[in-house]
Amino acid sequence: RNGAEILRDPRLNKISAFSEDEREQLGLLGLVPEGIDSEDQQIARVRMQLSRKTSALGKYIYLTSLLDNNETLFFRVLMSDPAAYMPIVYTPTVGEACQKFGHILRRPRGLYLSANRRGRIRDILRNWPEPDVRFIVVTDGERILGLGDLGANGMGIPIGKLALYTACAGVPPQVTLPIVLDVGTNNQELLDDPLYLGLRQPRLRGAEYDEMIEEFVMAVQDVFPRCCIQFEDFANINSIPILARYRDRVCCYNDDIQGTAAVAVAGIFGALRILDAKMAEQTFLFLGAGSAGTGIADLLVKTMMQEGVSEAEARQRCWFVDSKGLVVASRTELADFKKPYAHEHPPVPDFLQAIEELRPTAIIGVSTIAKAFNQDVIEAMARINERPIVFPYSNPTSRSECTAEEAYTWSDGRAIFAAGSPFAPVELNGQTLVPGQGNNVYIFPAVGMAVYATEAERVTDEMFIVAARAVAEQVSAETLATGLIYPPMADILKSSLQVAKRVADYIFDVELARIERPANVDELIEASVYQPRYRSLI
Ligand code: NAP
Ligand code: MN
Repeated sequence: RNGAEILRDPRLNKISAFSEDEREQLGLLGLVPEGIDSEDQQIARVRMQLSRKTSALGKYIYLTSLLDNNETLFFRVLMSDPAAYMPIVYTPTVGEACQKFGHILRRPRGLYLSANRRGRIRDILRNWPEPDVRFIVVTDGERILGLGDLGANGMGIPIGKLALYTACAGVPPQVTLPIVLDVGTNNQELLDDPLYLGLRQPRLRGAEYDEMIEEFVMAVQDVFPRCCIQFEDFANINSIPILARYRDRVCCYNDDIQGTAAVAVAGIFGALRILDAKMAEQTFLFLGAGSAGTGIADLLVKTMMQEGVSEAEARQRCWFVDSKGLVVASRTELADFKKPYAHEHPPVPDFLQAIEELRPTAIIGVSTIAKAFNQDVIEAMARINERPIVFPYSNPTSRSECTAEEAYTWSDGRAIFAAGSPFAPVELNGQTLVPGQGNNVYIFPAVGMAVYATEAERVTDEMFIVAARAVAEQVSAETLATGLIYPPMADILKSSLQVAKRVADYIFDVELARIERPANVDELIEASVYQPRYRSLI
């Protein structure tokens, strides 16, 4: 390859950091400025350019073009401080980027599998230049974050999420592949937008949709036999059945369901360390009985069963209030996934009354109803419990069931608090209380790394429980003393690798790995981690 071609290849390009020998031997002389940058100087230049962008979207566009131009430098910057760059390459900025994806397009990335090309998905997968893809994140764009149906614009999600697999756990970028299944959109604004680039037709539904998913999943098995498929941001009506259909047949998982559940369970494990109590001694009352809430409860039940509790007893420890009040057996209109939690109990119309009657040790908000954990609710929890567990998990921040300050103030600083959104530390009675954020990023990059390194055949709920335990164990005693039940976000790379090692160990234990167990599993993970360093091109 000649110098000009190397400059255009993001995996080889070093911009201003080619050595003197590379310049001489590869025909780069004159194509780059005379000065030679060190890796640190290049990071400094990126940071300076980034700081000059005044809008979040501007920063997103800048970093995306850096990825298109010099992948190594992009990841060196991200991995230098993943917590700082996460809000740009993923939530919240990626939401705005998806809304405007057709407007800000520079260079296509990933694979677009359109409903028009059904019957040809295998061939299209073969257009991807890397022969051994090991990790796919795929969406059909119907429920992008809390923003709804964004059609093919949803591509921003697999791209951003895969960047975090690399930045937070070192999954090598060359084995990752972002995919959007473009099955149309029911978003009229997009259909009316001349710059929208997806299929301009209503969403494919029913048997035709299911057949396309089947064709996609089977084509991946053929073309990339060692690949794990992570489903992301599908609507509930599809995400739950797709996971049920494929989880025992192929290597796949759904982060919205399983990752969310695991990060919440990790938070509970952290809280239990403060309480010095057992999972099976808790009573959980959820506000909201959607996919997030029931997914968390399903994993809590499995966790309690590992402590020797029967399934029926474990379910009896989880209660739900939905938009129609307490979920009880006498209700006739319940969706199937709520039925396991419909216990014998007289109807209770409201959340506060449910707290008084059930006396939960933990309340978990997944209702999208802002301020639902009001002063009466928190005071009741603080009256019933010495240290009440209060998890308002609804996103974004504006939907949170309460703020950190409210939970701490109304409970006299006794609440064990974590939220779906980030909150700043709170000063109360001369004490600094640090709220945690139940961000899935504690879980999915680590699980992804373990699955990649072991070439796992399947992804199971038990792997997510192992990950949740490992996350909680990462929290130091000093951190717990400030009330923080998750590891500090600044240490995410370090803690993800710890979690990945534990999950990998488990994968070998249950014989789901497709490689021989190495003498040292920790070393396997270390050796699998992508290093964002330039290699000599000579
Ligand atoms: P969903 O499937 O739409 O479920 C929402 C639930 O809230 C439904 O059960 C609904 O009741 C209930 N609800 C609505 N209004 C209510 C009211 N006034 N009182 C009581 N319950 C009410 O949504 P989801 O996917 O589960 O997500 C829920 C929230 O969790 C979102 O804000 C999401 O951002 C958040 N979340 C956070 C994380 C995280 O932090 N890691 C991860 C995933 C989700 P009906 O069933 O009666 O309609
Ligand atoms: Mn998601």
